Amino acid sequence: VSVDDLAYDALLEWIADEVAPYVGDGRVADYIPALAEVPPERFGMALATVDGRLYGVGDYRERFSLQSISKVYSLALVMARDAGVLRGRVGVEPSGNAFNSLIQLEYERGIPRNPFINAGALVVTDLLHSLTGDAAGAVLDFLRAEADDHTITIDGAVAASEAEHGDLNLALAHFMAAYGNIENPVDLAADHYFRHCSIAMSCAEAALATLFLARHGVRADGSRLLPVLGAKRVNALMMTCGAYDAAGEFAFRVGLPVKSGVGGGIVAVVPGRASLCVWSPALDRHGNSVAGVEALDRFTTATGWSVF
Ligand code: GLU
Repeated sequence: VSVDDLAYDALLEWIADEVAPYVGDGRVADYIPALAEVPPERFGMALATVDGRLYGVGDYRERFSLQSISKVYSLALVMARDAGVLRGRVGVEPSGNAFNSLIQLEYERGIPRNPFINAGALVVTDLLHSLTGDAAGAVLDFLRAEADDHTITIDGAVAASEAEHGDLNLALAHFMAAYGNIENPVDLAADHYFRHCSIAMSCAEAALATLFLARHGVRADGSRLLPVLGAKRVNALMMTCGAYDAAGEFAFRVGLPVKSGVGGGIVAVVPGRASLCVWSPALDRHGNSVAGVEALDRFTTATGWSVF
């Protein structure tokens, strides 16, 4: 056991103690029944360093629904195959509207503001499907490889629930299809989107799967997924658009590229050093995990590891 190992373990234990009063604070996502059933009293946090070491605290091995965190991987996989393909199809500006807003699409003629709002992620999934023939499968294969665990899978009950309550996402996709911005049949693109959102992973697995962004594009096996420029772009989008409408609060308090999901997970990247995943299901009004934000705030304050 090295001094480093002891320091990381102690740091995570300290953070878990600090945020204990916030665990369960907020509301568990209830737009689909499968997520509403998740117990709010959970907290896990994992840290993966660029040399591949993993540290964790609390429920960091318990799997949860990735939801919007999966949008990071679908975006990276599209950019890996064709760096220019997003041009003219999806913007790179933060959205002042809710993540599932239809209004902005009307003003901008079917071009979503960024790849992390639902409309943008639907376009990315559609492109990934055209490039691979199996968008959800491509995301799943990538996550299994990076986390080195082939038991990672799509939660079928969550995916079915997403589809059953998917009217708004389908409306977004149909609207964009009317402007020629969805290439595949709308139901097919939406199905792959629902399924990659429904992948279940633990903090440990999600931290490992996000390490390629801390390694400036290099995967767990040493091969390169993205050029340095591509990794920079994904990190920049996470910094400006990764936390729903709380990008300013995240920059202010955390200062790292992040992506959150309504399952209560948040992944974060410390470029050149480490990746993190924190999970606690109760959400604030923006849809970000309350205890998760508190934990990341304490992490960067204690380590000084913010990009600022
Ligand atoms: N699958 C969810 C939806 O499209 C993602 C929600 C989220 O994590 O932001 O509504």
